[in-house]
Amino acid sequence: MAVIGAGPVGLLTALLLGRRGWQVEVLERQATAYGRPRAVHLDHEAARILQNAGIMDDLAPQTEVMDSYLWRNADRTPLLWLDGAPEVPTVSGWPASSMFHQPDLERLLAEAVSRQPGVRVRTGHDVRDVMVGPVSGTASGTASGTAAGESVSVRADGPGGASAQVRARWVVGCDGADSRIRQLAGLDVTDHHYQAQWLIVDVRPAEPVRWSPLNIQVCDPARPTTAVSGGPERRRFEFMRLPEDPQDGFDSPSTAWRLLEPWGLTPANAVLERHALYTFGARLVDRWRRGRLLVAGDAAHQMPPFAGQGLCSGLRDAANLTWKLDLVLAGRAPETLLDSYGTERWSQVRTAIDFSVELGKIICVLDPAAAAVRDRDFAPIAEAGPMPLPDPPPPGPGVWLPGDPQAGHLALQAPVGQDGSQARLDDATGGGWVLLGHGADGSNGVDPVGDLPAELARWWASLGGRCFQLAPDGPLEDSTGTLEDSTGTLQDSTGAYGRWFGALERDTVLIRPDFYLFGTASGPGAAAGLVDALRSALEGEAIAAIGRE
Ligand SMILES: Cc1cc2nc3c(=O)[nH]c(=O)nc-3n(C[C@H](O)[C@H](O)[C@H](O)COP(=O)(O)OP(=O)(O)OC[C@H]3O[C@@H](n4cnc5c(N)ncnc54)[C@H](O)[C@@H]3O)c2cc1C
Repeated sequence: MAVIGAGPVGLLTALLLGRRGWQVEVLERQATAYGRPRAVHLDHEAARILQNAGIMDDLAPQTEVMDSYLWRNADRTPLLWLDGAPEVPTVSGWPASSMFHQPDLERLLAEAVSRQPGVRVRTGHDVRDVMVGPVSGTASGTASGTAAGESVSVRADGPGGASAQVRARWVVGCDGADSRIRQLAGLDVTDHHYQAQWLIVDVRPAEPVRWSPLNIQVCDPARPTTAVSGGPERRRFEFMRLPEDPQDGFDSPSTAWRLLEPWGLTPANAVLERHALYTFGARLVDRWRRGRLLVAGDAAHQMPPFAGQGLCSGLRDAANLTWKLDLVLAGRAPETLLDSYGTERWSQVRTAIDFSVELGKIICVLDPAAAAVRDRDFAPIAEAGPMPLPDPPPPGPGVWLPGDPQAGHLALQAPVGQDGSQARLDDATGGGWVLLGHGADGSNGVDPVGDLPAELARWWASLGGRCFQLAPDGPLEDSTGTLEDSTGTLQDSTGAYGRWFGALERDTVLIRPDFYLFGTASGPGAAAGLVDALRSALEGEAIAAIGRE
């Protein structure tokens, strides 16, 4: 595998592939980490993905859980309350919204990658070209024309101008907004025509201040401003650039301090850590793959940061793509499986872009009369009280149990009891492909293992699939199935699974490695039906149909 770009999405992609045993070469143009201020918000699903990658235990203490996000006008009248509801468990088992410092995440990812056998990061390598050809032969054409060959040769300019060559079976371009891989693959981009310039400023107040609410959006036509947490002991400010602002010097430290002053922050009581002027845009690739070239993260999509979803979307890309690449690399699924990456991810990302642009339209109103109309329109919304942060819709068409309305929803991650201690579900199961059975009404649980005929059980085990029974209270008898080493019993220690399975009206679920429900079923043969349907979906017609779209 070749991964181009060692930003957070490239590093996570490489890490998840390396953990599945693949050799990964990461080529990164820069010699050192990117120094400009970027993401501060992480949603619950992104945290769960990072948990699975072994990052979240170290990152969580460096985050600040968001209580709420208040949107107010120039007169301090609330327009919108987005409720972080930290006391309400989310489906992922992580806070709805955590605030953090992107360099902390990038450092933890880089450290994890450096410990991962099989993954090598080469910094100072600017990828210039890709050539597609047979695995062991010579290159036979440029990417745009013949990307369906057997392998890809990636050429990069290394340190000192030396040319470097990497041959890989698949290339994932995680090379950011100006992605060269996207261009070489000839992947078209739809521009959603959003543009605004903002000065982004990260400060460290000398004395920690408790902000309540933690995050504020000031919809003041005189200067739309964002004032949010940048993780513990940090504040992030974002100031919209106005038409009357000077052409030069707006991104200077003196401008940053001038704009910070009304917030009580001066060089006497705070450190200006970083600042940068950005032009926000909204773009999305029409297709995510051409032949052996794929794109992920900002290479596939860009959006204004008002919903804090750019990086979260990129982490979802990596979680979705890597299990599919794993199966295709292992020869367990046709390469058309990779087309479901784009069809599944597109609709979620499109929603995130639209939502971010809509938020941008609310905040970026510079005409006082238009702002007054907006304020009137929003008065009843604010009066209705805090509203939950919206979750993305289920992914689009792809690898799902046909006809199951629960397919494509996230599986619940709640605490479970295991061997006398408490664990998060994904830690207890180890992630990957999981069959989870639950007995209703306090009965002795459903046994998905015992439910699998031997031939299906072997296929499931060869996929790395594992089976778990959730006991409503207290441990179950040991499974008598055929997969003792890949089965287990977990206790529903908080009762959350009883409620969840009850709401689903199902007793067995099949969870994909990206934590989405492949499907749900009930009664005798439920697990067998799910595994059989998964096998058909991965190997058969359904994937070919997606590939033809
Ligand atoms: C002001 C701001 C605030 C944001 N806030 C949030 C937020 O709160 N929450 C959120 O989820 N997202 C947020 N985002 C978005 C988030 O920061 C990005 O989506 C994320 O950093 C993208 O990661 P990436 O790995 O896809 O790309 P990048 O981090 O851009 O990494 C791409 C890498 O590829 C390398 N590269 C490029 N070309 C080549 C080449 N030819 N050869 C080799 N290497 C190459 C680059 O050097 C770079 O290291 C924000 C963005 C901005 C600008």
